Amino acid sequence: MTMSDAHEEGQRSWTRRGWLSAAGAAVVGTAIADGTAGASGAAQPAQTPAAAPLPLTEFEPKSMLHVAETTVQRARFPVIDFHTHVSRRRAAKPPVPPAELVKTMDAVNLRTMVNLTGGFGEDLSATIATFDRAFPRRFVSMTEPAWTRASEPGYAQWQADEIAKAKAAGAVGVKVLKTLGLYLRDGGPTGKLVTVDDPRFDPMWEACGRLGLPVAIHVGDPEAFFLPIDRFNERFEELNAHPDWSFHGKDFPSFKEILDARDRVFAKHPKTTFVALHVGHWGENLAAVGAMLDRFRNVHVEIGARIGEIGRQPRTAARFFDKYQDRILFGTDAIPLGTETPQQVFGEDLYRIYYRCLETEDEYFDYAPARLPPQGRWRIYGLGLRDQILRKVYNENAQRVLGMKLV
Ligand SMILES: [Zn+2]
Repeated sequence: MTMSDAHEEGQRSWTRRGWLSAAGAAVVGTAIADGTAGASGAAQPAQTPAAAPLPLTEFEPKSMLHVAETTVQRARFPVIDFHTHVSRRRAAKPPVPPAELVKTMDAVNLRTMVNLTGGFGEDLSATIATFDRAFPRRFVSMTEPAWTRASEPGYAQWQADEIAKAKAAGAVGVKVLKTLGLYLRDGGPTGKLVTVDDPRFDPMWEACGRLGLPVAIHVGDPEAFFLPIDRFNERFEELNAHPDWSFHGKDFPSFKEILDARDRVFAKHPKTTFVALHVGHWGENLAAVGAMLDRFRNVHVEIGARIGEIGRQPRTAARFFDKYQDRILFGTDAIPLGTETPQQVFGEDLYRIYYRCLETEDEYFDYAPARLPPQGRWRIYGLGLRDQILRKVYNENAQRVLGMKLV
């Protein structure tokens, strides 16, 4: 790219200018190329070779901060990961055999993995046989609604009955994916989106309360996924790489409409225990999550795949953990394999990042075991939580919600 290209590019793209300004030496070249160096600066910096423009995807700054680095090999107390996905559907072999998972679990003091996506019917039975029964207290599995039948007549009662059968088969809860509110449509792919508070699910929510099965619910997605994929979007790189993750435009409800519908479900079923995954679906706004927890005594939150949100606001987050220490569950959203979402790939590195954030006061470290921060260009800080809070978040709250002694 020539200087004049760089000049035009600079005029067009605030984003590029923005990060180049942060890139130290590169700013000199840019300023000159743009002709924006001050009168006094014009002469001297010209001696410095101008750095070539650099695509954002290739920018990998190494922190020059010299601060404490603590490796937390094992959690201070036994951990229950309330948010994992370790089984496959249709009796397929698990991507990683459970015995292998257990070795890693032992290395990081992870006592139990709650496998949320256990499916239903035969899938659920196969999952429970392979994981829960083969490795008691190391794995427990939840069932899922049969979304594909949701438009059929008689679904509401059928689904409620199916939940009871799942409990009899050994399921410890019900998982609701973001399918509800964002993908599930009546009458095929072009049909109308089914809302989170659609009354056809009322018998299911009630059955969960009656049977003592907690509902692990995920609706919505990060707030930025509901905004345009543009230079102002803090998750631009992630969305640019996965445009299908965007819920902006089309007939998608707004972020707020989804949360409002969810809250109506919480309000309508006060005897049902809900665990709102991903920090109550709004890790970017802990004040709003706190207000939601104040309103609904039947709701807990879980922190999976949001350590990057918690850790970038360490003071606000530490206060949040202090105030809601009985309502927060540890989770990671771990999946055994894959590279697309490094913030979720199961392994010792993943857990050590969570432990470091919760247990230490380390500063400015990566929130994912990845070359680049996958969810946004920032780093995180430790909260240094007290033992009393760690015990609750690591295992006591989850055991109470599940009604099981696991640790
Ligand atoms: Zn998940």
